[in-house]
Formats: sequence, structure tokens, C-alpha cells
Amino acid sequence: MKYQLRCKKCGKVIADFATWFQQDQQCECGSGYAEVEYTDSTPFSFGKPINGSYQDYYFDVLPIEKHDNVVSFNEGLIPMERWDNLESYAKEKGIDCKVFVYRNDQNAGSGSFKDISAALAATVLKENGVKEYCLASTGNSGVAFATYLAKAGIKFTEFAPNCIDPATVEAIRKVGQPIVISKGGYGDAKAEAAAYHKENHVLISGGNTDPLRIESKRLLAYECLRQMGQLPTVYMQAVAGGTSPLAFEKGFRDLKRCGMIDADAELPRMLLVQQDECDPMVTAWEKATATGFTEGWEKDYEAKKDIKTRIGILTAANPGNYPLVAPLVRKSGGTFLRVAEAELPQYGKEMKKSQRTLMGPASMVCYSGFFQAVDKGLIKSGDTVLLNTGEGSDRAGWFRELVEK
Ligand SMILES: [Zn+2]
Repeated sequence: MKYQLRCKKCGKVIADFATWFQQDQQCECGSGYAEVEYTDSTPFSFGKPINGSYQDYYFDVLPIEKHDNVVSFNEGLIPMERWDNLESYAKEKGIDCKVFVYRNDQNAGSGSFKDISAALAATVLKENGVKEYCLASTGNSGVAFATYLAKAGIKFTEFAPNCIDPATVEAIRKVGQPIVISKGGYGDAKAEAAAYHKENHVLISGGNTDPLRIESKRLLAYECLRQMGQLPTVYMQAVAGGTSPLAFEKGFRDLKRCGMIDADAELPRMLLVQQDECDPMVTAWEKATATGFTEGWEKDYEAKKDIKTRIGILTAANPGNYPLVAPLVRKSGGTFLRVAEAELPQYGKEMKKSQRTLMGPASMVCYSGFFQAVDKGLIKSGDTVLLNTGEGSDRAGWFRELVEK
């Protein structure tokens, strides 16, 4: 076995994913947060880029035993783009920086951030003989998991809130997977998925700290080294649950462990962005800043009520991961930023003009955050900035209409 799992709470070793699934994705101590550890610590050799799955390319540093089990639509391994319009904006303000954009909308599976997670999950579930899986999601995750698990021959049930958009429902049904639409919101859909999991003994996605999500997403740190020749000094992303920043930090530690970056390398400054219509992490962070980060500050957060946002994938009203994500942001010397959802179409117009492309609204949250970060002096000369963007505009017709109006 080339890996094992270790519980983040009590430190106990869990032999492999087969054991982890048998234990209902929990340590004996009850914690559902475990991390993958690899036995091999030789530096990963990037070699020749391939056309194909990131799982084949990064096989040596993933918890997969056999290449034959890889379930893929050739996702991942997306070219980093350097965006001169953003560099020019910074330059006008006297800041000389490089800006790279990692575009998950170019993933071949379902065109979102979620494809790489769903791909690795499909592979590992298949390899370990799992026949059925379920998840509650507001959209992109549901489509990605439905698509990849269908390819793996695994039945997948999506539990969706009543506000789910028709295009998402259509995309899930098209691959022959069932979808249960709740009469209530996302919270109700989650409760229904949890009940289904319990009553039918069907594995459920482990949420924001699911080791399968973390292991796949952490490869972005490797992709930075492969394509940019270095890690960024600033990492920007729109954040809902906050898996990706945690995963990036895991990747950062793995790179250090294998001697691929300096032992004293610093984590990029994390600038995490939320839209004002659903910004529980920003609100909690502002409170912590105002009160001087007193003991236990990271546990002081509140769920937002009456969320009005139209950005389906950024609706995490209860930021359960804040106690993990916020200390990371602080350690990195970064911060949380709030952008106005009403202004996103304007940024969409600007992007269409300068880059001749349009991303989905969640990506625009990150994109507009860049301009604010420059204005606030959070980006400095000499910085290399990475914008990790989420999705394309295909499944957000309403946003495209607003931009094209
Ligand atoms: Zn434990």
C-alpha cells in the first residue's frame, strides 16, 4: 500500500480507504476528518505533460493502486493563463505583479471546480468495490459526481434543494442518475441525504474535509510548480465551504515533505472572497479583527439567515469549516474580502471585453476580488498572484443574460 490515512483529531492510523469506508468514513474516535499520508517521500518528477487524466499523470502521489481503475474524462492538467488585463490594472496603481488564472471551467468532465474531486472519488470508490454513493448539493457537485460515478458504474443519488436550477436537474438525469428534490432548502436536502445514508447504508460524501476532495484538490499546488515554476505568493479564491484552501495547504506540506520546495517556504497569502449576499466567513473575520483575535476567535462565527444570493454554489450559510480555514488565512498573512454581488455583471462585461471569455458568477466573485485587493494594497510589487476560479457560465444562464443586457 502506498498510503495510509491518519485521523486529524486523535492521530490514529486507518490502514486504507477500504477500512475507511467500512468504518463509515470515521475514525474510531468519531472524527470524520482524516488525512492521507504517503509512504514514499521522493520528489515527484514532473516529466512530460500528458494529454489525459491528472490521475494518471499524478498517479504516484494519489491514493490509487491500479491505473486500470482510473475513471476520467481527461479533467485536470489545465493550462494556467497569464491575464495581462489584471496585471495592467495593478500596474496603473504602481504595482508590478504577475497574475495567473487557473480555469476550472475548462475541465472536460462537467466544466467545474468539482470535476477533479468527483473523478478521484469515482476512481477510489470503484477500486474499493463501492456500489452506491450519495450527496446533497446545490448544483455543481451533484452534476460532477453524477457524471463520474455513472462512468464508474456506481449508482449515485443527488439530494437537491427546491431552488435547484432546471439545467442542473437535466444534467443529472441525462447521465441516468436519480435526483431527489427537497421541498425545502439546502439544509433540508442535507438532512434528507443524511437520513438516506443512514437508513440504506449508502456512503455519503464526507463534505469539506473529505480526504478524497482534499487529495485531488491539493494537486493545484503541484500544478503551480509544474506550470509557473514556483508557488504563488498570493492565492485568491471565492469560498463557500473552504475545501480548496485547506487542500492547497495540504499540497504545500506534501511538497515540503518531499523537498520540492524549501523547508522554510511560506504559505501564499490567502485572500478568500465572498459575495455580500452570503458572507458568513467575512463577517466572522471582521469581528475577530476588530476584537484583536482573542482566544477562541476562530470558533466565533454565525450562520447567515435569509440568504438572498443567486450564486447557487456559494450558498454555504453556515460556515462549519471556518475554524479550520480562518486560522490558515491568518497564518498565511492573508484576509477575507467581501465583494458586491450586484456589481458582478459589470465585471463580466469587462472580462468579455478584455479576455473574450465569460465565467460563471462564482468565478466572478474571485475575479472582482482581485480589483479590490489591488485597491486595498493587499497585492505588492513582486507578487505572483493565482486566481483559482470555479466554473463556466453555461449553467448560470441568468448571469449570462445580465452580462449581455
Ligand atoms: Zn481519531
